[in-house]
Amino acid sequence: MFGSHEKEKILEVRGLRKFYGSGEGAVKALDGVDMEVYDGELLVILGSSGSGKSTLLNMIGGMDLPTNGSIRFKGREISRFKDKDLTLYRRNNIGFVFQSFNLISELTVRENVALTADTRNNPGIVDQTLDLIGLSEKKDKYPSQLSGGQQQRVAIARALAGNADILLCDEPTGALDYETGKQILVQLQKLSRENGKTVIIVTHTKEISLMGDRVITVKDGKIKNTWINDEPVDASGIEW
Ligand code: ADP
Ligand code: MG
Repeated sequence: MFGSHEKEKILEVRGLRKFYGSGEGAVKALDGVDMEVYDGELLVILGSSGSGKSTLLNMIGGMDLPTNGSIRFKGREISRFKDKDLTLYRRNNIGFVFQSFNLISELTVRENVALTADTRNNPGIVDQTLDLIGLSEKKDKYPSQLSGGQQQRVAIARALAGNADILLCDEPTGALDYETGKQILVQLQKLSRENGKTVIIVTHTKEISLMGDRVITVKDGKIKNTWINDEPVDASGIEW
């Protein structure tokens, strides 16, 4: 994938630092991160708990601002965006999938997905996305009527319906049993391979990184290693 035909770089991070708190109690969550994201790739960010993975994902997604450093999305410096532009960036360019699904329990599956949907440009997007993720039959159910795996698929559909350029998945299997978690990884790999979505998966599980087109390992807020996976493993074949 990174051989003969070059992929377009859509995101570039340089010298990224994030400190929480100040003075002697300050926590260095990110300590000088440089990385890139390429269009259509499945990128896995691997690191143990507390290494800074969620902080990095939140900065990339415009959920929080870095202490210093640069994040360029398609050439625009998002780390200097004001609130309004940051909100637009999150809404128009980024889809988030969290460990805990973050669905709204009072809304149906369809309504949850419709929250982010770009219905002006594509009136059928909600149903199309539910179809894509295999949830059409559950569209009038409420989150509490679904299994954990189905709820996570709703969260993925919601992230996709906004027509996000990048899908950011923070430990997306963390709250699921093994087989269900694997199915979610299969779905995410399929979205990248068949639908050309750019997907970033954050995990602390080394075996999961084998499914990535590229893998970045983080430790103590720094990038330890970046490698290109010449033969990504099918998510269905991963064991951990
Ligand atoms: P990971 O996702 O890899 O487990 P995090 O990015 O959540 O790591 O955390 C990196 C470091 O920053 C940890 O030491 C964590 O305790 C600290 N941290 C994360 N969020 C906050 C916060 N809101 N306030 C203070 N410290 C934080
Ligand atoms: Mg985390």
